Amino acid sequence: MAKITVADIQENREAINQLRDKKESISEKQQKEHYSIEQEYSNKIWEIEKEIWEIEKEKRNTLNTLRGKQESVIVEFDNSIQTHNQTIKQAERILECLRLDSNKDIAITDDEIEISRYITPHCESLGYLLDDDYLKIKVFIVGNQKPKNKYSLIAIGKSIFTEDLIKLPYGYGADILTHGKGFSLIVPIKDMTNTAELKEYYNKHKAKLLNDVIGEYQKVKAEYLDTMANYSIGDFRELVTWTCPKCADFYTIFNSFSTNYTPQCFGHDPYIDMVKVG
Ligand SMILES: [Zn+2]
Repeated sequence: MAKITVADIQENREAINQLRDKKESISEKQQKEHYSIEQEYSNKIWEIEKEIWEIEKEKRNTLNTLRGKQESVIVEFDNSIQTHNQTIKQAERILECLRLDSNKDIAITDDEIEISRYITPHCESLGYLLDDDYLKIKVFIVGNQKPKNKYSLIAIGKSIFTEDLIKLPYGYGADILTHGKGFSLIVPIKDMTNTAELKEYYNKHKAKLLNDVIGEYQKVKAEYLDTMANYSIGDFRELVTWTCPKCADFYTIFNSFSTNYTPQCFGHDPYIDMVKVG
């Protein structure tokens, strides 16, 4: 083997340095190539993504526009239905007025007020707050089951108008027995320790008591009188499905009953079967 000289070493070191330089420059070039290809594809992908995004945006806009149009069509239908329904609702109220018994006795007698057991035994009438043809409201002082404010001022009402025509307050707070009495209105007004205070309270507030209810009643009464002046059941004969053989009560196509069921007229004791029309 030839002896290694300094020249050999230098030559080899030189060669290594040159090769390293070349390697480095090539790897730099490779990196640039790599980067540029990556860039190229990234750009392509970005273009496509932008396009997808645009398409998605277009899809959303198109759907929104469509939804708006569809909704407005539905709203139009709803409005039309609403318009027709006004007539139906009006007819239902007219029919409800026609089936009322204007001769029904709605007087409130003082002995009708029956108080629950185990309470302060007291029942005193303060007379009518409203004594009108179709609504009567009487005010009473009755005992209650409270330990201190033992007496209640309550208003009791009877009306020929049904719930379908007027929503009258019906408070269960009063300690009186109401079952089967035909009360349409019960309003517990005030509890106090003695009856004298309650009477004073009543006289002081009488003018404003139940003003909302009475106002609402006056409106329904006007509606009722107007209806009775302009309509009779003959105007709706084709709609009548059942009639009571004893009184003027009837049912129409607006009252639905399951087949094989005979509705009854509740205006008699005991109730009686209605008769099918046609
Ligand atoms: Zn009847």
